Amino acid sequence: MLLLLFAIIGNGILAFLLWKSKKTIVVFTNPTTGQQRALDLAKKCCPNPSCPFYRKRGKGNIHYKKTYGKHYDRGLLECTGCKSCFSETKGTAYANVKKRLDVFFSVLRHLAYNDGIRDIGRKVGIHRDTVMRYVRRAGTHCTKLSVLYTGLRCVEIQLDELWSFVKKKKKNLKSMTEYLRGFGDRWTWLAMDAVSKFIIAHVNGKRVEELCRKLMELVKQRVADGKKLITSDELKVYATLILEMWGSSWHPKKQESEEGRSSRTRCPMKRYSTALSIRRARMEG
Ligand SMILES: [Zn+2]
Repeated sequence: MLLLLFAIIGNGILAFLLWKSKKTIVVFTNPTTGQQRALDLAKKCCPNPSCPFYRKRGKGNIHYKKTYGKHYDRGLLECTGCKSCFSETKGTAYANVKKRLDVFFSVLRHLAYNDGIRDIGRKVGIHRDTVMRYVRRAGTHCTKLSVLYTGLRCVEIQLDELWSFVKKKKKNLKSMTEYLRGFGDRWTWLAMDAVSKFIIAHVNGKRVEELCRKLMELVKQRVADGKKLITSDELKVYATLILEMWGSSWHPKKQESEEGRSSRTRCPMKRYSTALSIRRARMEG
């Protein structure tokens, strides 16, 4: 009898939760193509800073108003707290995109598969300049999102550099002006989580120690403390900088002479000792 009562109460709670979640999901139809799309209002929040529901999700203040846009593929939402209307795309990388939203998404999908800019333009049916604009939009948005990368739990971090060039290769540069304008060889320094393939940090520029240091600093800021394995290629700068970032510095003692007085040699250089939580492996070939 008691079990039956618990089962009824359990089912009731489940049904209530389902009903509540269904209420927040709106399905709207594109009048030109007839395509249907679901939108979860519980994931949306009011972008108006003077509203009492500003940035608060799941409060039931967001209502779906209508489908709008040249292609009728985005929803207009209304906040009951401040009576303001805003687009469902507000604050995203694809806010105010003139073309259909699925065009924007397919550009990014092709980009993730390493397709070239012209190639993507041909496949999706848009000009290559538009592809570049979308790439820039997505890149800027990702940079803004990187402030959220803190306390990442990574067991293995892979460090690497990717070679590329801007406009022309280094050997084809004709003047110093071209070099100063940023043309020539470019390296993208990467730190990647080996398990999830998530890019923890990246820095773009020349293949110099300064950029490697910048990458390491970003990794240190974003990755949580704890045991980890760091793998890299044979570039010497990795070994010294990993020690410097994660190791601890110490001053070796001055050597005492036989008479008990300190020798006249200079003070030994500061050294780094390996942190016990860090293991490093060098990948060859
Ligand atoms: Zn509001």
